[in-house]
Amino acid sequence: MPMQDPIERLAAARHEFGEHGGVNMSIEASTTFTVMEPGTMPALFEGRKSARDGCYLYGRHFNPTVYQLSRQLAALEGTASAYCTASGMAAISAAILQLCNAGDRIVASSAVYGGTYAFLHDFLPAKAAIETRFVDISDLAAVEDAIAEGARVLYAESISNPTLRVADIPALAKIAHRHGASLVIDNTFSPLLISPAKLGADVVVHSLTKFINGASDIVAGAICGSEEFVGGLMDLHTGPLMLLGPTMDPTVASDISLRIPHLALRMREHARRARFLAERLRAHGLGVVYPGLPEHPDHELLSRIGCPEYGAGGILTLELGSAARANALMSALQNRYGFGYMAVSLGYFDTLMSCPSSSTSSEMTDEDLEAVGISDGLLRMSVGYTGGLSQRWGQLERALREVGAITGAAPREPLANA
Ligand code: PLP
Repeated sequence: MPMQDPIERLAAARHEFGEHGGVNMSIEASTTFTVMEPGTMPALFEGRKSARDGCYLYGRHFNPTVYQLSRQLAALEGTASAYCTASGMAAISAAILQLCNAGDRIVASSAVYGGTYAFLHDFLPAKAAIETRFVDISDLAAVEDAIAEGARVLYAESISNPTLRVADIPALAKIAHRHGASLVIDNTFSPLLISPAKLGADVVVHSLTKFINGASDIVAGAICGSEEFVGGLMDLHTGPLMLLGPTMDPTVASDISLRIPHLALRMREHARRARFLAERLRAHGLGVVYPGLPEHPDHELLSRIGCPEYGAGGILTLELGSAARANALMSALQNRYGFGYMAVSLGYFDTLMSCPSSSTSSEMTDEDLEAVGISDGLLRMSVGYTGGLSQRWGQLERALREVGAITGAAPREPLANA
């Protein structure tokens, strides 16, 4: 029976030792590899031999260290194969270009990261004649209607950035497959928490830059899928990774590989603290959105498809009503209270705060921002795990009072998790 738990799959994945028996794998520093027999070289070029057989060709093709990290990601996601890239955008663009040709159509969630939106909305039609129809993926009938018009790919984020809607992956997979499309899921917000491939997704992409790396010091990505799909990414004639060349450096692969063993500990703590803050913000009557709160529209869906050990993720949003108030709050939290930093990105050990409408979603048109509910006063918070929990809440509560977002006494309702 296949293992369902990503932690068990990771533990069962082959452990690569270093060249001299080190507990950590060695970093393969070479960009080119010798063959013992001249006949192996054409076999590599013709695809009859590959990294699967322990044969390597050239650093832009498979590299052993990057391949080993990729094995960890395949185990994490429960796919047959995976390969890592220089960034999350490289993973997203390569996966889509592998699935779509000029003239093809994509159906995508209207709530996706701004860079992905720009790639689908602006780049692909202009450069590759690939059109995208954006839909509310929580409206399954609308998804079915859009895909019935013909589409090669259905694309969504497992938990959307920054609106925190949860994709009903089993239902989306059924719709995609009924119409001959592939379901591609960006699982950047929910590693371990959601296993999209186990729920029916064909391809899972990640920005490793975020939770998986966890220290905001590396930009990287990954594509997880079947052996055939990952092999195709490196095809010498048509492979988007081989030909566009967004190659991960082996030193980066080694660094990220060493952080995967404590991903579970970090994800649990991000989620525990995000929930703690979300409950307190809610108790003050504030407009907090967090999928772990029972009133979140996808709370029940997440309980059904997510792994309960990892809570509901480490991101929450707070509606402050205006950009001025959101900016005042972030400024107070960073510059006076030491609560966190005004910075984009997520999954860092400290708290990061930004207003998506003027930053990570600013690529979206005003109409599209409004349609998905990204207002100027919406603040996204990637909740870190440094400092004491009540220390952090104290800082946040004082800053909220200072900017006038909360007035009056602290709520009396008993709070869990204290
Ligand atoms: N996917 C999501 C959900 C993101 O939030 C981001 C970046 O913020 C990306 C992909 C792009 O990743 P990268 O910055 O590693 O290219």
